[in-house]
Amino acid sequence: MRFLLLLVPTLLAAQTYDIVLQRGRVMDPESGLDAVRSVGINGKKVAAISTAELHGKVEVNATGLVIAPGFIDLHQHSQTPEAYALKAMDGVTTALELEVGAYPVSTWYAAREGKSLIHFGASSGHIPARMFVMHDTGDLLPRDGAVNRPATVEERRAIEAAVEKGLDEGGLGMGMGLVYTPTAGSEEILNLFYLAAGFPRRPVFVHIRDDKNIVGSLQEVMADALVSGVPLHIVHLNSVATDKTAEALRMVDGARAHGLDVTAEAYPYTAGMTDIASAVYANWETQPADFFAHLLWPPTGERLTRESFARYRQQGGMVAQFRNTEEMVRLAISHPGVMIATDGILEHPRSAGSYARLLGKYVREDKALTLMDAIRKSSLLPAQRLETMSTQMKQKGRIQVGSDADISVFDAARVIDKSTFENPKQYSEGFRYVLVEGTFVVRDGRLQTGVTPGQGIRAQ
Ligand SMILES: [Zn+2]
Repeated sequence: MRFLLLLVPTLLAAQTYDIVLQRGRVMDPESGLDAVRSVGINGKKVAAISTAELHGKVEVNATGLVIAPGFIDLHQHSQTPEAYALKAMDGVTTALELEVGAYPVSTWYAAREGKSLIHFGASSGHIPARMFVMHDTGDLLPRDGAVNRPATVEERRAIEAAVEKGLDEGGLGMGMGLVYTPTAGSEEILNLFYLAAGFPRRPVFVHIRDDKNIVGSLQEVMADALVSGVPLHIVHLNSVATDKTAEALRMVDGARAHGLDVTAEAYPYTAGMTDIASAVYANWETQPADFFAHLLWPPTGERLTRESFARYRQQGGMVAQFRNTEEMVRLAISHPGVMIATDGILEHPRSAGSYARLLGKYVREDKALTLMDAIRKSSLLPAQRLETMSTQMKQKGRIQVGSDADISVFDAARVIDKSTFENPKQYSEGFRYVLVEGTFVVRDGRLQTGVTPGQGIRAQ
């Protein structure tokens, strides 16, 4: 009997795995592995990575395909089954709402628990907390109560209590969009950083205050991070910094070099998008005529004028703004510390197409960054940003024995985005297999229905 037990390790090598991804190009950004290997999956975990072929109950021929960690999107506003399907077809296994965030946080998680195709999570949101306390009638973003006036002392206390409750409930840090809450002054914001400091290692994810004052806006949140000791993440750096992208990157690099824990993200499109009725356009009446020509109204495809802008602002809806050049986008997405995150809303093609576009256009066609760097920015870096507050993330963003089987298998020669401004809900092409904790959500290039392996990602 004892003799037989000693044989067990040898028998394991010949075991049958639940799933085997046979002979693909395994790319693990943490170890640097970039070689043909077979990946054995048991249950929810990667159980073997082998130069030899493995035996599996299910075997997938991955010859000629890249086997990468599933992508982790830090910035996905649409958190519905429809959005999760589009994300899965774009290689995403975790989609998080960290900029606007949620309120109430526990309700938000409960609505998705056991029902989701991919992993989900949210920060505790200053914006929705402020909208709740100040009776704003906006939807995703505020439009009246939370915009029109400063909060009273009592209201500020109520906002802080609401945000704190969300952190208590496992919110992934604190979300802020200062441009959308211009009446939240520097003191209200600094006090929220102090509040976040009571929850160690939970970052503030922030859309900075004023895209016409990039330096001052970055200085505000960097100073708040410094005095409070709270980690800081700047969302969609490209779409806020535009022609000041190089200066913004220099500030982020400089702050990091001097010990501040600050990171940034960008999405691979030259156009941003936001609510035409939001505070972003509060000063629209003083804008020159050419300002409106940079705006596109997706339902009709028309470029706007002062007159049509006024009409659509009354009506409300999402407007695309073409304010970045290809050069600015490339500068941001290829910068070593910048992660890829989509700022996903279903009206913009970035929600469905960002990762295929990164891999197809910017890696394969334009050669703006290497394939390994693109994978690192889409998986490992976001996982590392979150893992100090969420141990769940330590097993994600990697392809290693023991890591979660969150995996994207794609054809690097074919992968490309298909979503457009006219048709933003188009599945990307080229993702052949996507697994969420060992369950196929995409198989043979087709979305799988009736599976709900997605877990809530929380701070612990
Ligand atoms: Zn934003």
